[in-house]
Amino acid sequence: MTATALEILKTVYGYDAFRGPQALIVEHVIAGNNAFVLMPTGGGKSLCYQIPAIVRPGMGLVVSPLLALMADQVTALRQAGVRAAGLNSDLSPDDRRALWRDIRAGALDLLYVAPETLLRPDVLELLDDVKLSLIAIDEAHCLSQWGHDFRPSYRQLDMVVARFAGTPRMALTATADEPTRAEILSHLAIDEADAFIAGFDRPNIRYAIEEKDNPRAQLKEFLKRYEGASGIVYCLSKRRTEETAAWLQGLGYDALAYHAGMDKAAREANQMRFQHGDAVVMVATVAFGMGIDKPDVRFVAHIDLPGSIEAYYQETGRAGRDGLPSDTLMLYGYEDIALRSRFIEESEAPDQRKRMERHKLDALLGLAETAGCRRQVLLSYFGDHSEPCGNCDTCAEPPRLFDGAIAAQKALSCIYRTGERFGQAYVVDVLLGVDNERIAQFGHDRISTYGIGTEHDNRTWRAILRQLIALRLIDVDLAGHGGLSIAPAGREFLRDKPELMLRVPAPARARRGKVARS
Ligand code: ADP
Ligand code: ZN
Repeated sequence: MTATALEILKTVYGYDAFRGPQALIVEHVIAGNNAFVLMPTGGGKSLCYQIPAIVRPGMGLVVSPLLALMADQVTALRQAGVRAAGLNSDLSPDDRRALWRDIRAGALDLLYVAPETLLRPDVLELLDDVKLSLIAIDEAHCLSQWGHDFRPSYRQLDMVVARFAGTPRMALTATADEPTRAEILSHLAIDEADAFIAGFDRPNIRYAIEEKDNPRAQLKEFLKRYEGASGIVYCLSKRRTEETAAWLQGLGYDALAYHAGMDKAAREANQMRFQHGDAVVMVATVAFGMGIDKPDVRFVAHIDLPGSIEAYYQETGRAGRDGLPSDTLMLYGYEDIALRSRFIEESEAPDQRKRMERHKLDALLGLAETAGCRRQVLLSYFGDHSEPCGNCDTCAEPPRLFDGAIAAQKALSCIYRTGERFGQAYVVDVLLGVDNERIAQFGHDRISTYGIGTEHDNRTWRAILRQLIALRLIDVDLAGHGGLSIAPAGREFLRDKPELMLRVPAPARARRGKVARS
């Protein structure tokens, strides 16, 4: 580590040591390299460009979308003796002239600027004559066309980067998914090798994912462990939040509902009670999240499948901000997968967007169906690495595996022979040779796969089908009714018949719990 960088850390910021990958990044950029920095909010990204900008000769250019945030940072830096300024449209003509003079004279270490301002021809021409130490693009995910924060002006920053091609450039963001990351790297011509990804682990949070068997019984069992503590229960629909909150109230919990359909006053009142209460269970849709600042949230449960791995990470991440052990539970079943697939198929979004949504759903199913450590899968999604954690359900009780090749072949042929249009329940019934009218009506009691699966029970077949969906051997819902069909990889599987290990489903927890208590 360069002595100067460490000195600046102490004198300007008053910190003794760099945190996580900060030292590596700072050194990398001081040496003149590009960098992509992916760290969660609060991870400490600002130092990563501020210190190199101070150390390197020339002025560091910081592109940021939030003028208000810029003002705060500029004030803080100035108080610490750093020559920082913000260039924005609110400046009076006098201030603006003075600032331009400083910029030309090389009297600044850092210049904050909004993308729209930076793209103005007069500003670009001004910068042509100035020595730049680096260009840092904060909130870089704003350039992603498919992201929620897309800003067209961010899209044009590739032009700025090309104009100052010899200047090290940095892209910083807390938004983690793989497509967004790839888009940022390629758009700003930053190498994969210059990517720094870290700090996503929340070691005090325990992860557990179960099949949705009997959601109320499972939730009740989970909440029992947290009498007297506050937590959040996420549901997919407004109706379900209200029903679940009412049911929990009946059980004696101080449960509140929160969703976007409630009027603002009621929402705010519930949020306040959660914020200041000791044992409040907030039953909410994803509308609940922004601005929650409660350190002692002890648990987060998802009784429906969350929207994506990022949503899951963010929502579970509201637990345990105080660093104390906290618990999470996610329930998911085939219906969740079918419903989610249908949302994607039926949406008006362009194909590329749909493909990405599909990819995200697959990744989430992969997490739910993994036999390995949940945390490893979760962190690897963000490009962060870890050892098996010992603090998740699969670490605590590694799932047993079995040779599932034959079962997979049977399931795939059964889907094929029934015409690739029936849902999970029907396919399982045919595999088990169930005698019912619907099967007889379609003549599926006369096909070769009828009753060829009696070696497994219904629960195991459901688990097998879910895993084949997660492995992308089976597609859900091309017709819009939850029908299963054989994916391209499934056809390959039937042709090549490779080995395949699958996990044995865990025993039904709610039922097991009941037995244990009685
Ligand atoms: P981000 O931009 O990633 O959300 P910030 O750069 O705002 O995060 O940093 C978050 C907080 O952590 C700030 O209060 C910052 O001062 C503090 N911080 C950053 N780096 C360090 C460090 N090395 N040691 C102690 N505190 C730090
Ligand atoms: Zn683990």
